[in-house]
Amino acid sequence: MRLKVLGSSGAEFPGHYPPAFLIDGKLLLDGGTIGARLSEAEQFAIKNVLLTHSHLDHIRAIPFLADNIVIKNKRHSIMLFGMQETLTVLKENVLNDKLWPDFTRISAAREPVVKLRSVIPGKSFRIGGYTVQASRVNHTVPAVGYTVKDQTGGRLLYSGDTGPTDAIWSAAKKVDAVIVEVSFPNSMEALALKTGHLTARLLAADLAKMKTPPGRVFITHAKPQYIGLIRKEIKKIRVKRIEMLRDGKTYEI
Ligand SMILES: [Zn+2]
Ligand SMILES: [Zn+2]
Repeated sequence: MRLKVLGSSGAEFPGHYPPAFLIDGKLLLDGGTIGARLSEAEQFAIKNVLLTHSHLDHIRAIPFLADNIVIKNKRHSIMLFGMQETLTVLKENVLNDKLWPDFTRISAAREPVVKLRSVIPGKSFRIGGYTVQASRVNHTVPAVGYTVKDQTGGRLLYSGDTGPTDAIWSAAKKVDAVIVEVSFPNSMEALALKTGHLTARLLAADLAKMKTPPGRVFITHAKPQYIGLIRKEIKKIRVKRIEMLRDGKTYEI
């Protein structure tokens, strides 16, 4: 599995982009950053997008991707996967012909540019050559994380935004890599808990819920204002092969 980090930041600053992870050039986990990182050809190679939740930093580049597709009148469409609650928020508040055109009704060729498909937590489904399962996580709006298994058996687990949670960790089989959020430093634990996020200390407790430790742990969603401190605190929790993701970098997992 080839993982390209389009963004892995908990905010936007120069060099820091909101979360989106491109798997093998075609399957996208969250849509916080797309066009700022990918050429037109690379954008048109995206077929499916797994959305963790409706927050703007995770969906904001999707409307621009749809616009780029329709401008070229390509015979292309994207399928957005997410919980029904997430898709409804997107449809009613973004693709509503007010904030942005309703690309679920606008066709590039015969098909709508954007198609929506709801996922049920705990139930696995297939996308192309991947087997995907959503699991509920603990955030301020309905949210899931995803486990993605490729044809060679490689497994990646992505938490999305979450505070301390259980289902996704207890359901996890042996995974090659985990992408998990740490948004705040340990000193801001109260705010992390209130807003459905993790600190390094809270992450250590959550990773201990996994039956088998993951091969690698990648950290996402750190607030850039505290990134130095978060990096230090991540090192202290003594988890093997743990590192902060770098925006723009590609990882082989
Ligand atoms: Zn969020
Ligand atoms: Zn977020």
